[in-house]
Amino acid sequence: MTTALVPTMGALHGGHVALLRAARNECDRVVMSLFVNPTQFAPGEDFDRYPRDEQRDRRIAAEERVDAVYAPAVAEMYPEGFSAGVQAGSAAEGFEGDARPGHFDAVATVVLKLFNRIRPGVAYFGQKDAQQVAVIRQMVRDLDVPVRVRVVPTVREPDGLALSSRNVYLSAEERRRAGSLHRALVANDPSLVEGELEYMAVVDPETFRRTDPRPGALVVGAARFGTTRLIDNVPLEAA
Ligand code: AMP
Repeated sequence: MTTALVPTMGALHGGHVALLRAARNECDRVVMSLFVNPTQFAPGEDFDRYPRDEQRDRRIAAEERVDAVYAPAVAEMYPEGFSAGVQAGSAAEGFEGDARPGHFDAVATVVLKLFNRIRPGVAYFGQKDAQQVAVIRQMVRDLDVPVRVRVVPTVREPDGLALSSRNVYLSAEERRRAGSLHRALVANDPSLVEGELEYMAVVDPETFRRTDPRPGALVVGAARFGTTRLIDNVPLEAA
């Protein structure tokens, strides 16, 4: 009997559904966690306005035949006196780790807590958050966490924009420009980004160190469209 865990922050979209479907296909029991983890948001980030609709999320989970939704309260995850935590490894250096100090420590900590509470055999993550995947894989490997990590390809809008709970922040005009991030990554050409580019680089998907372009390496990028910060990545194909 294999239990799958699909960790989410809710505001479910087609990307989350792809994770739930992979889990449903591959495992006996599917648990979806629903927790907007306050510790992984820096002061001034969007924790307070992060989209939340638990009823809708529970409806989608039921449609996708999720066996259980685990939606703890913040005080349940972080009771009075909570102070230990995971220190994310070297995969957390650079890129999102630089842009969001402490973010990956907080992600690794909450994911380990979820693993310990749900005890899944397999946990499902999206390729869209490639550095998060590298950090979780490194934690699992280095700390001997008894979980298999499955990564599901990024689900996109027709113009290439990766589905994200944060896309709802985009105005119509920003939404039109946001499709340029994917086109820029595919071409590995920063000049194609019709927004404020924060970084674009070719990295090794395991270590997240910069590498020369080669098949299997990832082109990763982050850009702002208005006040909304989006990240995405595409693998380099054989030429
Ligand atoms: P979040 O709720 O944003 O924390 O995302 C929960 C999980 O869904 C993470 O593993 C994400 O990488 C994954 N995810 C988010 N967007 C997508 C997408 N467009 N395609 C595939 N997976 C995604």
